[in-house]
Amino acid sequence: MILTLKPNTPKKDIDLICRKIEELGFKPHLSKGKEVIVIGVIGQNAILKKDIFEAMDAVAFITPISKPYKLVSREFKKENTIIKIDNLKIGGKEIIVAAGPCSVETKELLLEIAEDAKKSGAKMIRGGAFKPRTSPYAFQGLGEEGLKYLAEARKKTGLLVITEVMNVKQVGIVTKYTDIIQIGARNMQNYDLLKEVGKARKPVLLKRGLSATIEEFLMSAEYILSNGNYDVILCERGIRTFETATRFTLDLNAVPVIKKLSHLPVFVDPSHGVGVREYIPAMSKASIACGADGLLLEVHPHPEKAFSDGPQSLLPKQFDVMMKELRLVAESVGRGL
Ligand code: PEP
Ligand code: MN
Repeated sequence: MILTLKPNTPKKDIDLICRKIEELGFKPHLSKGKEVIVIGVIGQNAILKKDIFEAMDAVAFITPISKPYKLVSREFKKENTIIKIDNLKIGGKEIIVAAGPCSVETKELLLEIAEDAKKSGAKMIRGGAFKPRTSPYAFQGLGEEGLKYLAEARKKTGLLVITEVMNVKQVGIVTKYTDIIQIGARNMQNYDLLKEVGKARKPVLLKRGLSATIEEFLMSAEYILSNGNYDVILCERGIRTFETATRFTLDLNAVPVIKKLSHLPVFVDPSHGVGVREYIPAMSKASIACGADGLLLEVHPHPEKAFSDGPQSLLPKQFDVMMKELRLVAESVGRGL
């Protein structure tokens, strides 16, 4: 349930309410909006204790949250969440594009891709150092060495880094090097990992599971927020359907649906969603047109030699041309890029 406080409630009263919430075995989650301060009372059957809070002077009114996810829901927070990293605002007016190879391969290659991506207007460099591969015999990533290359690319270009963490043990090391922690589709329901990144002090990009419903996706995000990390980006990356013409089916329905249900920023990853280079520009444009706040894209200058996901990687030149087109789409929906 949500407690909406009376205007100008002093801090000591807010603290008192939070303490009471904890005493009752729930977790208080404070959200200071432009006009009102609300406190989420989060825990099983919290609503049964409604009377206790109703009797409090500072509480203006109480609203139950009807959805199973609470902190993630628009019922809890009306305004869009904007995540600020350095000068970048994720979830604001500007569309943020992250580009880079599927896997971090060599330092030279990563720096080359980062320089090109930056020139084309990308704001982040992507690349996996820990790779979740279907085959145990496929390239598994460079590990910490790859993270160091990413950090170097940030230093050289000013691009922010986004990279995947695959298990709880890696959270410390990945957090040390990255700006945004990526949770891959295959780990969307790895609840221990979600709890761990919930305790991290870096934003998290959570990818939708290959067969996850939107509700399951939002419940996974709830794990991260309820552990204290409110900076979560939700990323649609395609789901399994009966269709085989593309690698996955990019569920762009999810974008407006999630925007209605949640205040969190939404990204789309057309590279994995489609899996075929040729279709990426069309689906990138569609993603922006339907309300995405950002894109995650794979770019590689020699896709035929890429360690992973070559067939869906755009050439830097193609990426550059596409970015110009995306800018027009962004402007047509009142956004910038
Ligand atoms: C990736 O971004 O390289 C990746 C492995 O994505 P996903 O988890 O969506 O398959
Ligand atoms: Mn990939």
